[in-house]
Amino acid sequence: MSVRTRFAPSPTGFLHVGGLRTALYNYLFAKKHNGQFILRIEDTDQTRIVPGAVENLIETLKWAGIEFDEGPIKGGPYGPYIQSQRLELYHKHALELIEKGHAYYCFCTPERLEKMRQEQIKSGQAPKYDGTCRRLTPEEVKKKLDEGIPKTIRMKIPEWGEITFNDLIRGDVTINFKVLDDQIILKSDGFPTYHLAVVVDDHYMKISHVIRGEEWLPSTPKHILLYEYLNWEKPQFAHLPLLLNPDRTKLSKRQGDVAVEDYRAKGYLPEAVVNFIALLGWNPGDEREFFTIEELIKEFSLERVNKAGAIFDIKKLNWMNSHYIKNYDLDKLTQLAIPFLKEKGYDVSNFQKVKIIVEAVRTHLEYLAQIVDYVDVFFNDEIRLENGEAQEMLNLSTTKIVFEKFINKIENLDTEIDREKFKQIAKEIQSETGIKGKNLFMPIRIALTGKTHGPELPLLVEFFGKEKIKQRIGKFLKV
Ligand code: GLU
Repeated sequence: MSVRTRFAPSPTGFLHVGGLRTALYNYLFAKKHNGQFILRIEDTDQTRIVPGAVENLIETLKWAGIEFDEGPIKGGPYGPYIQSQRLELYHKHALELIEKGHAYYCFCTPERLEKMRQEQIKSGQAPKYDGTCRRLTPEEVKKKLDEGIPKTIRMKIPEWGEITFNDLIRGDVTINFKVLDDQIILKSDGFPTYHLAVVVDDHYMKISHVIRGEEWLPSTPKHILLYEYLNWEKPQFAHLPLLLNPDRTKLSKRQGDVAVEDYRAKGYLPEAVVNFIALLGWNPGDEREFFTIEELIKEFSLERVNKAGAIFDIKKLNWMNSHYIKNYDLDKLTQLAIPFLKEKGYDVSNFQKVKIIVEAVRTHLEYLAQIVDYVDVFFNDEIRLENGEAQEMLNLSTTKIVFEKFINKIENLDTEIDREKFKQIAKEIQSETGIKGKNLFMPIRIALTGKTHGPELPLLVEFFGKEKIKQRIGKFLKV
């Protein structure tokens, strides 16, 4: 059997981190088994549609490196991949269910249903459709249809008994029919509900494994019944553990960002986010923590997905992201950092210079948006001594010697100064004057930045270049 998985989000306008995990696990599982990963848009709730949401979803998945094989825009053999474009198919099967006696028309008004619900709640019952229309005679149904009374279609849940299904993560799950409602499968606006659409689509799209969040576990018995009613082969199911806040409540916006786009906008690296998300509920069985997406494909298995909820720990994400930032390709990192600098009005016209900045400060960053807190020293032309220590260092008798030698040596360079040349010059000054360590380096740093600490000096020197160094050091030589 060929493996086909799908990610089936509703187009709400952003991708929840839990959604990214679902997409990732589906992707990893499909790729591990040389199968296909499908993106399907579940937009049957037309009140929740957000313009541009599909494009945004596709873009965010692409950012994360999760490529789908079939889906909207891209197409594929089982399209369309947007549910609102597949209405006929759902109608056809809703009617088939009625014909087979597994579903029925419901003419109850929303007002009646609401009243019923309130009464049930008041008397301590779990709200559930009372079956009024299930008991209508064929003649009564025909009459109401002829009168054009608004209607929905409900599936019939057997009146007694229970259903057991196997979940690849949870094992056997048994649910008593008593707790299931005669679910509406086709709404009065002609749109299917999720339950019918998901079954029809998973069937027609030949989905072999349904891997989704735990919140859908209670719906699965209804889906299984629909497969049985329609005489279709069932896929295998795997329900992923909930994502939790550190206080073990369900992951919510109140305790931090939940949209992948928010992390992207703050300058989290896609590789880090994917690595972190992969470990939310899955583990490799040993102590390893860093994985490329290719390694994840190789290692992933549903057997190693936990049943227990997984804590979304932003501290761990920050730690992981800073590790990726430290080791990232410098050109790529610089490209990603530029928008943050630009937004603050810094001059980013010289890529090579910006690259030096990024190299110099990247060890401080948990995410790229923080870069603006560390770059002042590169852009500030007004040097102000930050403290008494800075002044004391400049007052040392050795400082003047260091400055004169340094200026003299850079003037004699026939190229621009870079970090290696600076190291060479420093060595020469040391051997010619005997001045070394703090007394050699700190005054240069102070003259260039006004500060006693900061980014690595060779990088600062390379960044400023001969002219600026001469100017800044020259200023202190004069006084
Ligand atoms: N449309 C559902 C969601 O938004 C998909 C559930 C499923 O994967 O079956 O999460």
